Amino acid sequence: MGKLLIVGTLAFDAIESPFGKTDKILGGAATFIGLAASHFNVKSAIVSVVGDDFPDEYLNLLAKRNIDLSGVEVVNGGKTFFWSGKYHNDLNTRDTLATELNTLAEFNPVVPEEFKEPDVVMLGNLDPTIQQSVIDQLTTRPKLIVLDTMNFWMDNTLDALLSVIKNVDVLTINDEEARQLTQEHSLVRAAAKIHNMGPKYVVIKKGEHGALLFQDTNVFFAPALPLEEVFDPTGAGDTFAGGFSGYLASTKNNSFENLKNAVIHGSNLASFCVEKFGTERMQNLSKEEIEQRLTEFSSLTQFNIELQS
Ligand code: AMP
Repeated sequence: MGKLLIVGTLAFDAIESPFGKTDKILGGAATFIGLAASHFNVKSAIVSVVGDDFPDEYLNLLAKRNIDLSGVEVVNGGKTFFWSGKYHNDLNTRDTLATELNTLAEFNPVVPEEFKEPDVVMLGNLDPTIQQSVIDQLTTRPKLIVLDTMNFWMDNTLDALLSVIKNVDVLTINDEEARQLTQEHSLVRAAAKIHNMGPKYVVIKKGEHGALLFQDTNVFFAPALPLEEVFDPTGAGDTFAGGFSGYLASTKNNSFENLKNAVIHGSNLASFCVEKFGTERMQNLSKEEIEQRLTEFSSLTQFNIELQS
């Protein structure tokens, strides 16, 4: 069984989409990553922080998925990270309405002893100084460190972000953020610039238009599954990251060919996440549903063409 160390936010989210509005519900990058990764043969742990306003019920939901929570600090009298966002009609773009760091602002992460030599580290979206501190606590450098981030950290902590990006193997990022980070409109040029910043693999997520994997001149593209119903894209990027890193931790094979499979697993799980608000769909996802969609992915991308000589 592979070992996966996850860091990221555990959060309250308030979401508005053209299909409705939620009060504070369970969210956070580490939540979505953990739920997605739990579908693979991995032992995972989350390092994060919450206030004592975070319901036990939410922590139990993660613990029931066999996720080690000994690295989750509960701050007495503290408030949990809160994020609020509003999606535009195309559901591919959104505005952040509020980001309240609360307990995250003072968080000093502590990696549990048992997870200091993981197979894969998934540095989910949160403050890059926390991501770096997690790397610094590992006893040996894992074979694969994956980092996900978003515009908030580019706007507020760019230098710290650039210095942690230097130390990772894979950067997963969405298309607009890749453009912001590199000042390149072309995603091919953006990926090349990101390679020069450190990561040998770059995954650029394009929402309903799929995801691209780059390793120098090698490129792979996975479509997103065309879905009848999309309610709320929140957490799709983190779910992708959880599927991607969970699969790689379970297979312990970091070749380009296997990273392609990881992109498919990530895209497959993300396709479920968007069908309901928040984590709802990810809480009740069966093995059969996952496998059925993998078959759909496979037939969506198969064709037989005869090249004329
Ligand atoms: P995604 O839709 O995959 O980009 O991720 C949305 C999730 O990320 C939500 O559940 C939020 O709680 C969380 N989130 C939003 N902003 C931040 C931030 N600045 N740092 C860490 N997590 C965040």
